[in-house]
Amino acid sequence: MSRVKILDEETISHIAAGEVVERAASVVKELVENAVDADAQIIRIGISADKTGITRISVTDDGVGMDFDDALLAFRQHATSKISRPEDLDGITTLGFRGEALASIAAISKVTFTTKERGSASPEAARVVIHGGELISHAAVGAPEGTSIIIEALFYNTPARRKFQKSVPTELSHVYDMVERIALSNRHISFVLLYNGKERFQTFGTGSYPDVIAAVFGSSFSKELTPISGSFGPVKIDGWITRPGSEMKTTQTRFYLAVNGRQVTSRQLQWAIREGYGTLLPKGMFPAAFLDITLDPREVDVNVHPTKREIRLSREREVMRSVQDAVYQALHEERVFSPAPDHK
Ligand code: ADP
Ligand code: MG
Repeated sequence: MSRVKILDEETISHIAAGEVVERAASVVKELVENAVDADAQIIRIGISADKTGITRISVTDDGVGMDFDDALLAFRQHATSKISRPEDLDGITTLGFRGEALASIAAISKVTFTTKERGSASPEAARVVIHGGELISHAAVGAPEGTSIIIEALFYNTPARRKFQKSVPTELSHVYDMVERIALSNRHISFVLLYNGKERFQTFGTGSYPDVIAAVFGSSFSKELTPISGSFGPVKIDGWITRPGSEMKTTQTRFYLAVNGRQVTSRQLQWAIREGYGTLLPKGMFPAAFLDITLDPREVDVNVHPTKREIRLSREREVMRSVQDAVYQALHEERVFSPAPDHK
């Protein structure tokens, strides 16, 4: 007797959601990245929580939006406007490409999605409401251009995942970290982050690194940094790192590393930065590093993990060497931190 069967759509979507949506911060990441990919100038993120946990996540952008039919299609698994052929995976330039986030999020929460295409002649926007993967409504409504999405009751139908959520302050700190990271690597976009209606921080889309660092961490933090920029081997590097002799007693690593605009976690890159400091770094001290690393997208494989935080580099050794050299050079021609609007 045959015991093998193809899983139903609902089960498939829960498995996919398990990979992409670990916690509230993963939802925030996917939604904010969609807004970035949609060419938004202003992105507003709202988080609400009570004693029971995070109750509501909203992300509103003024990006390109979608037409009526696409608004629904976007919630299908593997629905994306960002790639269309296998070759496209060899040179990803958008933050998203898997076409899985909206479907996954909608499978395990209650979603209200409103979108209006930029420059569209129609006066109407589309609103899609989905609860636990089930379409509740798809209707025309009045709304401004851009996209707004509200997530409620996250994990309401996945008790196992819900049980693994940490305390509200812990989940919030992950959300803040995520938004900060995306804001730091997208400095031409203005981000506003609100918690229970109160502003946590706002960036102004000036394009300046010092402006964003100051908005997120305060201006005293930014005074401890020195700029780093230039072309080194296969990479272009741009950013700010802890200056030597800094008063800053950092016992915690603050690495904000973006490769082609994507925040990544990379032990190798962290190691390369520390090596660049060499003996300038007293024992027990960690540098802070805010780095944009730009290289040929064909040399970066982002299709490694569903959350896209890990990457593979085809010329890894060379890239690490370049980062180490860049750090060394920046530290040995120290300049004082001052907000320079023309410094990207
Ligand atoms: P991916 O980002 O990997 O393409 P998603 O499931 O996150 O997959 O989104 C599916 C599609 O929906 C995107 O490719 C994009 O075309 C559209 N989309 C999602 N969010 C937005 C948004 N905020 N503005 C405009 N289009 C969006
Ligand atoms: Mg996406």
